[in-house]
Formats: sequence, C-alpha cells, structure tokens
Amino acid sequence: MIDIIDIVKSWSKLIGNKTDQEVKLAAERYKVCSSCEFRSKLDFCKACGCYLKAKIFTTNTASCPKGKWNEAEIKYGNVKTTKSIL
Ligand code: SF4
Repeated sequence: MIDIIDIVKSWSKLIGNKTDQEVKLAAERYKVCSSCEFRSKLDFCKACGCYLKAKIFTTNTASCPKGKWNEAEIKYGNVKTTKSIL
C-alpha cells in the first residue's frame, strides 16, 4: 500500500524549509542510493518506484525497501520511528 501522506510530506521537505539534521540525513541517504543497484538513471528507486530526491526527506525510518539506510539513520537519527512500506 502506498503511503500518500508520506510522499506529500517528503516532496514538501524537498522544496520547503529543512533543518540541518534533515539535510544531513537526506544527504547520507542519497549517498547510499547513489551507489545502489536499484537506482535508475532518472533518480527513481526501482525497488519502490519513488523519486529519490524526494524520498530521502521522508520522516519515516526504514523507508528503503532493501534496508540500506539503516546506518545513515543510526548516524543522524530521524524525526519519527514509524516504519513505512515505501
Ligand atoms: S531507497 Fe534503498 S533500494 Fe532504493 S535506491 Fe535507495 S538505497 Fe537503493
């Protein structure tokens, strides 16, 4: 099931105001995505279909469908502790 609210929030963060922590966490997540075999040339995740430059601003932990963001989220923390299926 797609979490529309999470997608809208992530896009809002991409274009809106961000805290330093959110920017650092997103940059760390994007670094992981940049070397991931599931990243498409157009910056979408082939595992979940999300646009990565917005997805990296999700406030849900464990949003990477392959569990590759865990270290980034441990390093920089996250705002919420809910798990997304995206
Ligand atoms: S969200 Fe996860 S699976 Fe998708 S491109 Fe990024 S690291 Fe890879």
